[in-house]
Amino acid sequence: MKLDSMYQEIILEHYKNPHGKGLRDGDAEVHHVNPTCGDEITLRVRLDGAVIADVSYESQGCSISQASASVLNDLVVGKSVGEAQAIQEAFLELMQSKGKGVGDEDVLEDAVAFAGVSKFPARVKCALLSWMAWKDATAKALAEHPAV
Ligand code: ZN
Repeated sequence: MKLDSMYQEIILEHYKNPHGKGLRDGDAEVHHVNPTCGDEITLRVRLDGAVIADVSYESQGCSISQASASVLNDLVVGKSVGEAQAIQEAFLELMQSKGKGVGDEDVLEDAVAFAGVSKFPARVKCALLSWMAWKDATAKALAEHPAV
């Protein structure tokens, strides 16, 4: 797999220094696995009204899956549920672009670094693992605390 070197560096930086890693209090917890690569994540979401107050996680697996969880934490914590869902959809669209998408840096920030990953179907699952876990956990948290 060959990625643009600047993008590769962003991914490696998040992999080495993951943002927000570790499990903290949450309103809902999920465990997702990506069996094709062996990536695993346990993720918790804590809501404060309609705001994502925290996304905490324990994860193991490849650099793509780990870096993606770190970027997810950067992008959604502090945002409203609606804003965070829009970001998740933008990331999903980028990952489904089969290498054609570039991503809107204003919306996706460091997540644009994953654009090249979308060319590799097996790795797309790695990049999406934490985002799907987040989506699932947020839906659970909302069901328990219907604030929005
Ligand atoms: Zn992986």
